[in-house]
Formats: sequence, structure tokens, C-alpha cells
Amino acid sequence: MSFDVAAVRDQFPVLKRSFDGKPLIYLDNAATTQKPQAVIDAITDYYTNCNSNVHRGAHKLADEATRLYEGARDTIATFLNANSRNEIIFTAGTTEGVNIVANGMAQILKAGDEVIVTELEHHANLIPWQQACERSGATLKIAPINELGEVDQEAFTSLLNSNTKMVSFAHISNALGTVNPVVEMIAKIREIAPNALVTVDGAQGVAHGDVDVQALGCDFYAFSGHKVFAPTGVGALWGRESLLAEWPVWQTGGEMIKTVTYSHAEWNELPYRLEAGTPNIAGVIGLGAALTWLSQFDAKAMRAHEQSLIDAATERAEQFDGMTLLGRARNKISVLSFVLEGGHPADVGFLLDRQGVAIRTGHHCAEPLMNKLGVPGTARASFSIYNNMSDVDALFDALAKARMMLL
Ligand code: PMP
Repeated sequence: MSFDVAAVRDQFPVLKRSFDGKPLIYLDNAATTQKPQAVIDAITDYYTNCNSNVHRGAHKLADEATRLYEGARDTIATFLNANSRNEIIFTAGTTEGVNIVANGMAQILKAGDEVIVTELEHHANLIPWQQACERSGATLKIAPINELGEVDQEAFTSLLNSNTKMVSFAHISNALGTVNPVVEMIAKIREIAPNALVTVDGAQGVAHGDVDVQALGCDFYAFSGHKVFAPTGVGALWGRESLLAEWPVWQTGGEMIKTVTYSHAEWNELPYRLEAGTPNIAGVIGLGAALTWLSQFDAKAMRAHEQSLIDAATERAEQFDGMTLLGRARNKISVLSFVLEGGHPADVGFLLDRQGVAIRTGHHCAEPLMNKLGVPGTARASFSIYNNMSDVDALFDALAKARMMLL
């Protein structure tokens, strides 16, 4: 089955924009993706026709809003192949999802326990674990990467033992595009560290593949809506029902309680016990719409299209004078991270922007990784399903001009 990229592009109004007469070439998808008309319409429709608070209403409008909101939970449960809708906790995004897990772990961990992350992590999957270890007296271990930017599997395995209580790692690295061998890593964890729970940071994973949490075999999977064509400020944490049902509560307040007295409160059932306060209703509805929209495409064809873009861009990069690629993982998707000789990444970003090409520059919220790679940051072009080969051409045409200006 082929993937009709022109038809997909057509559904993203912002891609029709131009700046100073130059068409927008949007290559900052690892930061956030654009939104298709279907998602924009779902949010507009909610505010136009159904705006109301959810769950507690005694009127039809509240019933409609609740139906849309809870319908999105079903959509996400199906999308991730969860065992039950109770396993889907709405969050503000990956950051909040990881913090819910790490905050709980901080109350479970003891001195002598070990937590493992990798050198590839985004700050959102590093700092919560630093904090959890600091609070509990547990030890944080960092699995190193090899020269290709892949987690060194031998070194990773050697860190695992019976004291390991949590292993948390990215599905796909936002800084280098490395796709981690999640299933293989979890198989090793289960074999050598049977007391460990596993969290996968799925911020970059959901937009680029067929995420099946049961097949992956993790215990928690956190993602952000905005990386997968949905609004910002909304996401979901998937966790095994048996874990979430007992997980230390994150925030307290309305919605997450069963009964309250002036001196005591009892927590609600899942999924509500981990969703305190009025949620981001429009965001959740937008997230449901985004995943419904995405599900219409053949996942294999979509992935093949994205792979063709990163493969073509890598080939061009290898021939580009003065360019050093960072991250040469054998399994890699979407992200082309590079430095140009004679140009700070920020200057490269500026010169590309003047030509209508939007990329991201800097440390990509992975400062320790940049230090490890010995660079202040990188220029990062990241592709999504609506990008095409002309975008790859436009990127390298703009880079050629930038290089002339930098020389
Ligand atoms: N992890 C990774 C790998 C990411 O790419 C991001 C976003 N750049 C995050 C975590 C944090 O996501 P959010 O800011 O949406 O919570």
C-alpha cells in the first residue's frame, strides 16, 4: 500500500503558508507537529457546540462533553493496544507522565535500590529520576551510548541486577533519532532484573510507528499529544492496571476522590484517581481526533515514507562539504542532527529560517548528551509524514546557501 503524501499535506492548513514570499518548509516536527484540519475541526466543534465540564454535570451538554472526552480515552486505549481503558491516564504530556511515575517511585525506592536511564534521554526523562533518587537515597545509573548514538547493549545489560527497581528510556531519541530496541531491552531487564519496572518515554515514538504497549512489554508508556498531530498541553500515560490502581497519587483535589471529610480523603477508582482537577477537555478531544485521523493510514506505508526521507537526507548529508552528522544509529527515524563547519548551530538555524526552512537548533533538552558528544548543540531537521522529497531538496539548497554565507 502506498502513502499519498500530497493528499496528507493538503489536510494541514499551515503548510500552505509562506514567509517573505518563501513557502514554509516545516522541518521541526520533533519539537511539535502541525495539526490536520480534522483535529482543528474537533476542537472548534467542541467549543462551538459542546463546551461544558465533564463527569459531574446534571445536563445534556455535560453528558455530550463527557461522552466526547471518555470516547477519546477509548480511542487512545485502542491505539496503544491497552488491556483496558482504565490504563489510560490523561496528562499534560510526556513530562507529566514521567513525573507521575517518578513521583510514585520516589515513595517506593529505598537506599540501595537502583534506577537506570540512558545517555540519550531528554531532560524530561532524566531530571524526574534524579529527583526520585535524591529523595529516596536510591542510585541513578546511566547506560552509555556507542559511537553511532545507540545504547551500548552490552554496557546496558551489565548495569542490570536484582537491585534495579526502574529502567526508563526513550522509545526514539529526539536529539539523534535513534530507535531503541525496546523489546530486546525489556527481555534483558526481565531476565536479569526481575524486580525492575520499565518506563518508556514515548514522546517521539507515537508519531513514527505502530505502538503496541502489550507487544513492547513495558510497564508504563508516556507520550505527548502535540508530537502526534494533537494540541499542546495534553498527553497520556499508559500503565498496567494493577500498578496504576495502587500507584501513589500525583496531585490531589477534585475528581480524584471517592469520599472526603475534613480530616481524610479516599481516592477514586482508575483512571480518575490519577487525574485531579478539571482536565484539558478540548485537548483530550483533539488528541482522540488526531489518533483517529492517524489510524486511517497504513502504518507500514507511513513508516516507509518517513524512512525514505531520512535515508535521502542522510545520503545528501554525507556528501555535504563541512557537515558532521551526529547520530548514525542503524535503526533511526525522522531526525537529522548535524553541525556545520564554521557555523554555530544557532547561525545555521537563522540562515535557514531566512530561506523559509524551519528547523530547531540547540541542545534539544538533552544537555548531558551534547556534552558527551562534545558539541554546544546541533542543528536538527526532523521529518513528519507530511514532508516530501522537495522538502529534503529545499533543506539542502538552503544549507548550501548558508554554507556560502558562513565561509
Ligand atoms: N521526551 C522526549 C524524547 C521528547 O522529545 C520530549 C519533547 N521534546 C519530551 C520527552 C517532553 O515532552 P513534553 O514537553 O511534550 O512533555
